[in-house]
Amino acid sequence: MKILVPVKRVIDYNARPRVKPDGSGVDISNVKISINPFDEIAIEEAVRLKEMGIASEVIAVSVGPVKAGETLRTALAMGADRAILIQSEEAVEPLAVAKILKVLADEEQPGLVILGKQAIDDDCNQTGQMLAALMGRPQGTFASLVKVEGDAVLVTREIDGGLETVKLALPAIVTVDLRLNEPRYASLPNIMKARSKPLVTKTAADLGVDIAPRLVTLKVAEPPARGGGIKLADVDALVARLKDMGVA
Ligand code: AMP
Repeated sequence: MKILVPVKRVIDYNARPRVKPDGSGVDISNVKISINPFDEIAIEEAVRLKEMGIASEVIAVSVGPVKAGETLRTALAMGADRAILIQSEEAVEPLAVAKILKVLADEEQPGLVILGKQAIDDDCNQTGQMLAALMGRPQGTFASLVKVEGDAVLVTREIDGGLETVKLALPAIVTVDLRLNEPRYASLPNIMKARSKPLVTKTAADLGVDIAPRLVTLKVAEPPARGGGIKLADVDALVARLKDMGVA
């Protein structure tokens, strides 16, 4: 069974995003860029399934600029076998990413597609669900446990009320949550080895997918700056203040 793992190149979770002065988006020049943290968890899960003898091959795929090749090398260093870069210097919306993944899934016929539950740059949380719909395959989202059993996969999902386990017939789509696993660090020898693993580059046009944007960003703005707090002398002053504000 092959496993396809889509990985996105995003602003590092430690970096502070800066809004472009014209409000048209987030300025990503000179900002640390990394693999989307949920996608690292997805790669880790796929590699573990390969180490357990359940998967035969792990294929990492990224839709993004030529530099997304570096993100794919990280996935290869963690243990993916080969990588596919669908190069686009323009941002690609989740629906277009899902359409690209559908074409690749038709070509590769993976038993599982394991995605992150969301990319931390746009927080869309859409791609996996859209892919499942396009492929007409079952989906298990927000996975905190994944267990392959014969021709099915058991996915334990983090939901509001606790945990829910669903059984999906393979092939299936899984999106992963934070608690699924702790991704490994790529060792230096594996980083070196990753350099010679196969990475092919294609474009959306090669796959016959139209990636023209469907959404218009009207405005991106910083959250309002927090006003400073005040210190009150005692509880009576606090109660009086709350009364003044009409909240007590
Ligand atoms: P999103 O729907 O944008 O929040 O992304 C959910 C998941 O879809 C991510 O964690 C990735 O696994 C995958 N994904 C989204 N965008 C891309 C992309 N440009 N390239 C590869 N995978 C992506």
